[in-house]
Amino acid sequence: MRVIRTVAELRAELLESRRAGRKIGLVPTMGAFHDGHLSLMRRAREDCAVVVVSLFVNPTQFNDPDDLDGYPRDPERDAALAAEIGVDYLFAPAVEEVYPDGFATTVSVRGITETLEGAHRGRAHFDGVATMVTKLLNMVGPDVAYFGQKDAQQAVVIQRFVRDLDIPVAIDVCPTVRESDGLAMSSRNVHLSAADRARATALHRALGTVRDAVSAGERDPGAARDLALAELARAEIEPDYLELVSADTMAPLQRIDREALVVLAAPVGETRLIDNELIRPASETDGDGKSLNRSTSTARWRPRSGRQPSRKE
Ligand code: AMP
Repeated sequence: MRVIRTVAELRAELLESRRAGRKIGLVPTMGAFHDGHLSLMRRAREDCAVVVVSLFVNPTQFNDPDDLDGYPRDPERDAALAAEIGVDYLFAPAVEEVYPDGFATTVSVRGITETLEGAHRGRAHFDGVATMVTKLLNMVGPDVAYFGQKDAQQAVVIQRFVRDLDIPVAIDVCPTVRESDGLAMSSRNVHLSAADRARATALHRALGTVRDAVSAGERDPGAARDLALAELARAEIEPDYLELVSADTMAPLQRIDREALVVLAAPVGETRLIDNELIRPASETDGDGKSLNRSTSTARWRPRSGRQPSRKE
């Protein structure tokens, strides 16, 4: 695996593969790798001839300077893990390489960015994500870029601007990887105290109560939400938000009569955690209302338009 620091070097390295028509996969990350990141890399490794992982803690998407300063970083361990999976290039640029003096451009997505994470973290968060991901897609020029369903709203925002800006890439959204007790893996989990780590399992349980209620026939989002809030309250967790929204638009649902995404963000101690679960009511399933998380979710999240990768190894 080669570690690359500049855009010029990255382009030079990828030139031959591009000319030869080899399929290039990109996995954008902010480092401090866990199994969630590694699952995206493995997926890219299976699908693509050339795998690029970017490692860049993007300052423009942090709304809280302390969160940026305290963001976990372990570049040597990250490089060893990526190399073990067989990643070809780890692109880890300096901040000045990404944002040179005079940088003045923002990719800003309306609507979908204004609720949930956007409402709580402010406009700059998704502007920072959209601008950075656009830059990475332009730097690498991948056939496929891999993202996690863990950041569900981010995935929808990325699919939106990729379509709007006609960026020639397929977006593959991969299932959330969890700890054995259900906690969604996150780089920020290392900040949880032992007591908060135990309380944090309530997030997954709360999502489970909604899934179970919907399986049992509940169609009222308010009632389903109350069950989840009660589960969180038992762990003394007060969420920033807990909503049942449309999986496509992230708009609130009036009734659970189609595929729904339960999205949740909550501070647990000093650490803010997010999680979500895709749910569909029984009438749309084989008869036994199932969660779409994990194995079946990816197919549902594949972009409905935009170029599918056509080049093969
Ligand atoms: P981050 O380094 O947190 O920006 O995450 C990089 C990518 O990994 C994003 O596409 C995330 O959605 C994805 N990711 C983070 N946590 C998980 C997880 N637990 N399971 C699957 N993907 C994840």
